[in-house]
Amino acid sequence: MEPQEIGRVRKNTYNLRGFKRTFIFILIAAILVATGSVLAWKQVTNRLSQDARESIESAGRELAENFNYLLEAEFQILSSISVSLEAPAVLANKQRLVGYLERQNKRNVFDLTGYQAPDGTAWFSNGKTLKWFLSQAVVDAVYKQGQFISGRRKNPFENEDILIFAVPLKEGEEKGVVFATHTATFYRQTLTANLWQGNGIGIIMDKDGDIVLSAPKSSYGNIFEMMSDFLFDAGFSADQIKEEVSSGKSGLSGYSLRGEHRFAAYHPLKYNNWYAFAVLPTAFVAEKALGLMVMAWLICFSVIAVLVVCIVFMLRMQHQNGRALYAMGFVDSLTQADNLNSFHFKYAAAVEAFKKKGVPFALAVVNINRFKAVNDIYGLEEGDKILKQVAAALQEGLQEGELFCRSSADEFLLLLACPGRTDLALRLENVAQRAGRFCQADGKCLPLSLTCGVYVVDEDSPFYIMVDRAKLALSSARQRAGAVYAFYDEAFRRRIVAEKHIESHMESALQNGEFKLYLQPKCDFKTGKIESAEALVRWEQPGKGLIAPDNFIPIFEKNGFILELDWFMLKQTLGLLKEWKEAGLNIVPIGINFSRLHLDDPSFVEELSRLADEYGVDHQFLEAELTESVVFGNTAIMKRFVDDLHAKGFSVAMDDFGSGYSSLNVLKNLEFDCVKLDKEFLMREEGSTRMRAIISGLVSMIKSLGGKIVAEGVETQEQAQFLQSIGCDLAQGYLFYKPLSPQEFAKLLPAAGSTGQKAQ
Ligand code: C2E
Ligand code: CA
Ligand code: CA
Repeated sequence: MEPQEIGRVRKNTYNLRGFKRTFIFILIAAILVATGSVLAWKQVTNRLSQDARESIESAGRELAENFNYLLEAEFQILSSISVSLEAPAVLANKQRLVGYLERQNKRNVFDLTGYQAPDGTAWFSNGKTLKWFLSQAVVDAVYKQGQFISGRRKNPFENEDILIFAVPLKEGEEKGVVFATHTATFYRQTLTANLWQGNGIGIIMDKDGDIVLSAPKSSYGNIFEMMSDFLFDAGFSADQIKEEVSSGKSGLSGYSLRGEHRFAAYHPLKYNNWYAFAVLPTAFVAEKALGLMVMAWLICFSVIAVLVVCIVFMLRMQHQNGRALYAMGFVDSLTQADNLNSFHFKYAAAVEAFKKKGVPFALAVVNINRFKAVNDIYGLEEGDKILKQVAAALQEGLQEGELFCRSSADEFLLLLACPGRTDLALRLENVAQRAGRFCQADGKCLPLSLTCGVYVVDEDSPFYIMVDRAKLALSSARQRAGAVYAFYDEAFRRRIVAEKHIESHMESALQNGEFKLYLQPKCDFKTGKIESAEALVRWEQPGKGLIAPDNFIPIFEKNGFILELDWFMLKQTLGLLKEWKEAGLNIVPIGINFSRLHLDDPSFVEELSRLADEYGVDHQFLEAELTESVVFGNTAIMKRFVDDLHAKGFSVAMDDFGSGYSSLNVLKNLEFDCVKLDKEFLMREEGSTRMRAIISGLVSMIKSLGGKIVAEGVETQEQAQFLQSIGCDLAQGYLFYKPLSPQEFAKLLPAAGSTGQKAQ
C-alpha cells in the first residue's frame, strides 16, 4: 500500500467510526423517543379521558345552570310586562294593547309578545290575532303553576320552531295570560356556545326522553329511543340513565354511536322536569391528546435535531482537529513527507507485506554530510531547499511497498526491499548520486555527499533498536572517508558491544592500575645501541590478558578519555626515569604518544613542563610523538605547539609519517627533531623497487631538512639493511626489540658510565 493510501485508509476508518457512533446515538435516541412517546400517549389519553369525564360532568352542570338562568330571565321579563299590562286603561283599548305589545317587544329579546284574554282571543305584538293560541289546558296550567314554558312548537305565522313562555296577567285571578315566543335557533346557539368550543352536543329533553332542543339539530326525536343504537361502555346502560332521569338525578355515561365514542352528562332543569344533556365525542379528547403528542414530539425532535447538529458539529471539529493533529504528529512540515511517527505507524503493515511476498527488507538511514556547514555557508533558506530536494529525490526512488520519512534535521529513514546486498548498495549509490547534487536558482550546482547506514532486518526486534542499528552502520560509514554506505552486521554489532564494554570499564581500569606501560627501544642500525625508547600502553584486563592499544585508543580518542590516559602514561614514564636515574642507570630519552586532542589545551606544554620538573627529569629525556594527522589542517596551531615544546626543551617527533596525505608540506613548515616512518607504509611497499626509490628520496629529503629518521616496524634484516643504506638513523621494530616491560627494559639500560650494547 502507498503511504498516502495508508493515511487515507486511516482517515476513512476514522470517518467511518465517527459516522457509526453518530448513527448508533441517533438510533438509541429514536428508540427512546418512540418508547417515551408511546408511554406518554397512553398517559396523556388516560389523563385526558379522566379530564374529559370531569369536564363533561361540569359542562353538563353548567349547561343546565345556564339554561335555567336563561329561562328565569325570560320569565322575569315576561312578568314585568304582565305587571304593566294590569293597568285597565291598556286592556280596555285593544288598539292601545297591540301598540303597547309592539313597543315592549321591540325592547325585549322575544320574537313575539302577546296577551290572550280569558275568552281565548290572543293579541300579538305583530298586530295579528288568533283564537286559542294557547289551549285551555295550557291556560289552566299557567294559572295553576304561575308560569309555563312549552316544548318545541311551530310559529303560527312562520315556518320555524319556537318555545312559548306564559305567565298569568294577575297572580291568583283568571284575567288572561301574557305570553312570548322565542325561536329554537336562539336556544340552540346558547346551548352550544360554551360547550367544548362547539365540539360538544347540547340537548334539552323532557322526562320521557323527548328532545325539546338539540344543538346541533338531531334526526332523533327521543333520546331513550336513540339509546337503542348506543353501545354502552362497561358499567353504563340505558336503563341506568332512564332510572336516574326519572328520579331527577344527575349522571354520566360513556358509549359509542356509529363508531364514535362519546361521553354524556345529564342534569335536571328547574322547568318542566326537563333535563340538560351534554355530549362530548371522545375523538375530540383524542384529537386534543394528539395535538399535545404532536407538540411533545415536535419538542423531542427539536431537541434531537439540536443534539444531532451539536454532535455533527463536534465530530466535524474533532475530525478537523484530528486532521490538524495528524498533520502535526505525522507530517514533516518542511518536506511534507512523513515524519518518524508516521513511518513508525506504517512500518508494521509494510513489513508484513514484505514478509508475505517473501522479499527481504532493510532499514536505511541516509544523512547529508556536513549539512551544518552547508547551512552556515549558504544560509538556512538554501539549506531548507536542499532538504526538500533530497527528500524528493529519495521519495522518487521508492519502489512499491517501501517507506520513507525525514526522521530528523538532515537525516532520512527508508524501508527498502533488499533482494541482495549488492543490489541494494547499487541502488543506494544511485540515489545518493541523484540526491547529492543541489542546483541553485542561478544554475550553479554544488555537490552534496550523502552517507547511508543499512540494517538488513534479520530478526523481529523493536523498531527503535533496528533504527539504532542502521544509525550505527551510518556512523561507521562516516568514519570511512568517501564511503557512501555501510551495512550493519554481526561483526559490527560485536565491535559496538566491545566498544560499550570498554567505555564502561575504562575509568575503573585506570584507577585499578590495569593500564601498563611498555617500552620499545629505538636502536642504532649499526651498533644496535638503545638510543631512546617509546612508551606504549597495554591494558591488562583481569581474566582477559593484554589488550593491544589499537583496540581501545580509537575509542578513547572519540570519547576524550585518551587525555587522561596520556597524562597517566607520562607520569608513569617520569616515575621510571626518576627511579632509574636515582638507581644510577644511564637513562635514554623516551617518546610519549600524545593525542591530537591535547592541542586544544593551551596549558598543555606548561603542565608537561611542570610535571617533568616535579619528577626532576631533565626535559631532553622526553620526546612528544605527534601523529601526522594531528598536523593536517592545523598547521598554525601545530607550529605554535611544536615551538612551545622546543622552547621548554622537549623534542618532538612526527609519528606515522607516510600514512597521511600532506606529509611533505607538513615537514616543510614544521621543525621536527625526528620523523618516524610509518610501519604500514614500510610493510605495504616492501619489495617494490619503485617504492624503495620513493622512500629513499623521502629519507634524503628529511635528512636535508635536518631531522633524524626512525624506521618503525623493522622486522627483517633485509629491511634493516635497506633502511640503513638509505640513511635512516634509528630502528624501532621486532627485529631489535618488542615492547618490553619496564623491568625488562631497565635491565638493558647500562649503568652510568658504561656503554650500551646490542641486546640480540
Ligand atoms: P605507534 O605510535 O605507531 O606505535 C608503534 C606501534 O608499532 C606499536 O604498536 C608497536 O608495538 C608496533 N610495532 C613496533 N615494532 C613492530 C614490528 O616490528 N612489527 C609490527 N607489526 N609492529 C611493530 P602498539 O603498541 O600496538 O600501539 C599501537 C598504537 O597505539 C601506537 O602506534 C600509538 O599510536 C598508539 N598508542 C600506544 N600507546 C599509546 C599511548 O600511551 N598514548 C597514545 N596517545 N597512543 C598510544
Ligand atoms: Ca608512536
Ligand atoms: Ca607510529
